[in-house]
Amino acid sequence: HIELARPVYNVSHMDTVVKVLRAVCFHCSKILTHPSRDPRARAAKKLVKGQARLRAYVMICKDKKVCEGGDDLENPNAADGGGCGNFQPKISRTGLKLFYEYPAELRDEQLRGKQPLEAAQALQILKRISDEDCDELGLDRMWARPEWMINVNLPVPPPAVRPAVTVDTTMRSEDDLTHKIGDIVKANENLRKQELNGAPAQYLQEFVDLLQYHVATLINNTLPGQPVAAQRSGRALKSIVQRLKGKEGRIRGNLMGKRVDFSSRSVITPDPNLSIEQLGVPRSVALALTFPEVVTPFNIDRMHALVRNGPDELPGAKYVVRDDGSRLDLRFKGAGEVHLEPGYRVERHLEDGDVVVFNRQPSLHKMSMMGHRVKIQPYSTFRLNLSVTSPYNADFDGDEMNMHIPQSLAARAEVQQLMMVPTQIISPKMNSPVMGIVQDSLLGARLLTQRNTFLDKAFVFNVLMWLHNFDGRVPQPAIIKPRPLWTGKQLFSLILPDINLVGKMSLHPKNETTLISPGDTRVLVEQGELLCGILCKKTLGTGQGGLVHVIQNECGPDATCAFLDQTQAIVNYWLLHHGFTVGIGDTIADEETMRTIVQTIQAAKVSDLIMKAHQDKLEAKPGMTIQATFEKQVNDVLNKARDDSGNVASDSLSMANNVKLMVSAGSKGSITNISQMIACVGQQNVEGKRIASGFRDRTLPHYHKDDFGPEARGFVSNSYLSGLTPQEFFFHAMGGREGLIDTAVKTSETGYIQRRLMKAMEDVGVRYDGTVRNCVNDVLQFVYGEDGMDG
Ligand SMILES: [Mg+2]
Ligand SMILES: [Zn+2]
Repeated sequence: HIELARPVYNVSHMDTVVKVLRAVCFHCSKILTHPSRDPRARAAKKLVKGQARLRAYVMICKDKKVCEGGDDLENPNAADGGGCGNFQPKISRTGLKLFYEYPAELRDEQLRGKQPLEAAQALQILKRISDEDCDELGLDRMWARPEWMINVNLPVPPPAVRPAVTVDTTMRSEDDLTHKIGDIVKANENLRKQELNGAPAQYLQEFVDLLQYHVATLINNTLPGQPVAAQRSGRALKSIVQRLKGKEGRIRGNLMGKRVDFSSRSVITPDPNLSIEQLGVPRSVALALTFPEVVTPFNIDRMHALVRNGPDELPGAKYVVRDDGSRLDLRFKGAGEVHLEPGYRVERHLEDGDVVVFNRQPSLHKMSMMGHRVKIQPYSTFRLNLSVTSPYNADFDGDEMNMHIPQSLAARAEVQQLMMVPTQIISPKMNSPVMGIVQDSLLGARLLTQRNTFLDKAFVFNVLMWLHNFDGRVPQPAIIKPRPLWTGKQLFSLILPDINLVGKMSLHPKNETTLISPGDTRVLVEQGELLCGILCKKTLGTGQGGLVHVIQNECGPDATCAFLDQTQAIVNYWLLHHGFTVGIGDTIADEETMRTIVQTIQAAKVSDLIMKAHQDKLEAKPGMTIQATFEKQVNDVLNKARDDSGNVASDSLSMANNVKLMVSAGSKGSITNISQMIACVGQQNVEGKRIASGFRDRTLPHYHKDDFGPEARGFVSNSYLSGLTPQEFFFHAMGGREGLIDTAVKTSETGYIQRRLMKAMEDVGVRYDGTVRNCVNDVLQFVYGEDGMDG
């Protein structure tokens, strides 16, 4: 450490020092209030948290002008705490200096005006505070005596904290902290010298200030109002606080968030031909990551081959670790064969079938990290099946994901038994699947299982080649003459395990109860045979009681995995040959429908409402102002107009309409999207209300003042097809912008809330005795959730 010639303040504690000085007598260091004198002090004494107590005492004492109390000054146990009766100065802080100032009316000649409060003086006051008062002020006498907040000796960190960088043996560049410590030593010596020379106080003060500045900027170089201490090059020095603080600091960057070995990160892209439990890994990644495989008599030949291939050829190895722990780097091995013995470890490249953990942040539930089987592939992206995209909440607009390689057989076994994708199909929070058929495969399945889809012999035989468990038995064609034809349902039945299911299609009419459904919307699976019904999101999706759910319950995870894989394989192969597209043509309704739509929108009689409001004939609904009542009624009318016109549009579309096909399959789009494209976009909202006046009494200069009509308040009566007017476009952009801001704000806010929750509860867990306990075995709940049920 450095023994300082004069004590200096520690910048990080200056505000606390001020607080303590304000709560304590300037002369006798007793707390300026006592429970016997002030009821507020009685309340403050009862506060459990030390911080809160200190804050409370400062609040009470900051305006005290004298050190109250009796004559019992010498007795520390005096009933009223005692006090010296001296007047109290005001304490203030400016930059790195503290000041005291006595109230004007009792100003002594010598104590005129603001006086600087030297650190040495403050130190004396703090030292005098009794241990009892210390605890009272929330400063633990064991760990935080107040005088410790002032530096008398300055600790010097060892070189490990401030390593010097050597540039080619001769050049040595020291760490910022070393430079700073040098400055402090210099300033300290100068001060000591001047003191010995008996320099005048005024002159000496400059040296004290310099020392104080150097000590302060060693700790924190981002002090407001303080010049930044810089290297000769002009680069600001990195102080201790800066090294610890913030996202990249020691705490959050190096301790809480360490970088991890044996992991990889890349952009993800889809591949429906991979199994849901597979993961396409780029060759370049496989070449960089290793698994330590122990050499046994059974694999020694294979290990030899890998070692021979070396670190640059794909099924190869990077290191050999002998049983004595010595490590052989295969990059530098000679021409000769490397000797292997059972018990050695070969750090071999990643290979097909290796088990890895795959993760997408934010990891909000356990399905955000799942086990996959590696499949080495060319190119540079991670490839995954589309059905696992939902538990990861991933899409392919540039998302990146991380892969981790378990480094022992135990870790690998754990991943295999607990984390593999098929074991994660059922979510523990809802007891329903989190993976189902999505996107193209969903649409394809809907088209394939229609009554009028027939497949010829060549096609069916091709599809049979895709089946993993094809037993060589081709099903009887549904139609034999003039040529054999199979139905899509027959084809689909080939991949169904032996299950039974009754379900409905999304288009199933509510009032239809007959066993035979005219629209083929009643789905019936008997003994693994799809007898009738078109499949859609309701049966293939993640819903309760869908195919995925039933297969998982009846046949287990592996069958479900196979079902999802094969559904995609067959359906995509079929859809590839069938084709599908959406165009402008799918957004145009016939003439008759367009007329009805226009009439429906014009029939929305908002003008009547406005007239009623003008004539004061509007009655306020319970709990609402007249204005709110008016807004609600307008809203109802316009929403009805939008829905009615949308329904007209949607109903007019034939089953040949491709947008409607997607919506009914559940793969993309909704009824609202259809009606917005064809009929009317509808009311635009900002903060849950119609567009409010931004100018004086109007939304835009294009309208009259106090216009409460639909158009002037953001009702878009046009459709996306007909095109929006400039005003409508502007309102639409307003609503859209709010949505964007909302999502941005919401993700960051909920993310931070979640982080705090997880951090606070990270050690809490359910033990084998059924209790919920924390890391020190304190019982938080005797039964999880107080009912013992998960979820
Ligand atoms: Mg994305
Ligand atoms: Zn006093």
